[in-house]
Amino acid sequence: MSIMMPAADQAVLSRRAEIVAALRTIVPGEGVIDSAAEMLAYESDGLTAYRQPPMVVVLPDTTEQVAKVLKYCQGQGIKVVPRGSGTSLSGGALPLADGVLLGLGKFKRIREIDFDNRVVVTEPGVTNLAISQAVAHAGFYYAPDPSSQIACSIGGNVAENSGGVHCLKYGMTTNNVLGCEIVLMNGEILRIGGKSAENAGYDLMGIITGSEGLLGVITEITVRILQKPETARALMVASPRSRRPANAWRGSSAPASSRAAWR
Ligand SMILES: Cc1cc2nc3c(=O)[nH]c(=O)nc-3n(C[C@H](O)[C@H](O)[C@H](O)COP(=O)(O)OP(=O)(O)OC[C@H]3O[C@@H](n4cnc5c(N)ncnc54)[C@H](O)[C@@H]3O)c2cc1C
Repeated sequence: MSIMMPAADQAVLSRRAEIVAALRTIVPGEGVIDSAAEMLAYESDGLTAYRQPPMVVVLPDTTEQVAKVLKYCQGQGIKVVPRGSGTSLSGGALPLADGVLLGLGKFKRIREIDFDNRVVVTEPGVTNLAISQAVAHAGFYYAPDPSSQIACSIGGNVAENSGGVHCLKYGMTTNNVLGCEIVLMNGEILRIGGKSAENAGYDLMGIITGSEGLLGVITEITVRILQKPETARALMVASPRSRRPANAWRGSSAPASSRAAWR
């Protein structure tokens, strides 16, 4: 079964040259890509069964540029699809023929490492693994570990609420993200949450996490980091009944922290 993409808006496509020129005034230099050959790299995400070149690719590198692009697009009735590393397996970063593909690949700086508060403030294009690598020298790491962590971006992780094996014990992305800067589709820049898990008001981070780029473009993320355990060992336990190893482990003399993973 194939999925039909929405019909492209011909009125928007007929203004393509004008739109590209306007975007170039916001993101100068090589930040706007409109040649068919160069846009091929963006025509799909990890769900390669579906391919669609965008109308134009825009690669901003500041929050202000993102805000201006979104404001312009909303004013002109142009759709926008944000993209991190493009490893999504759900087609979330699949472009639209009449839309702007907004790549966050240039947002790849870690802005702050705060060991006292056990947080890292990072731009969305930084890979998941790079966060752990940046704090490894001090014995810390970032827990959620999708198996694409060498390539996927932390912005994509937030947008998809990604997880991996560590999440059995430490929770998904939503349990490890404390705050963000997000640009709404009208160009408004919001700061949500902060360095603490305890914030007054509604849990807006809970709404943004897993929103697949539909609520805005995330331009900064504050994640919590954890201290590495003193040791980690692989254990294989066999049993004819699935609950027995778990029960044995719970009653064992292993540290409470590791037994918690089985609850
Ligand atoms: C080999 C492989 C293994 C994988 N393993 C796992 C796994 O173990 N666990 C798991 O959960 N997933 C896994 N995935 C899926 C994928 O890697 C994750 O969903 C990852 O979080 C996507 O990140 P990305 O940067 O590639 O996002 P993209 O694919 O670029 O985008 C994903 C979605 O996020 C949105 N988005 C991206 N950046 C932003 C932003 N800055 N602001 C707003 N919206 C944004 C996009 O619009 C899109 O909807 C795997 C994928 C592959 C190819």
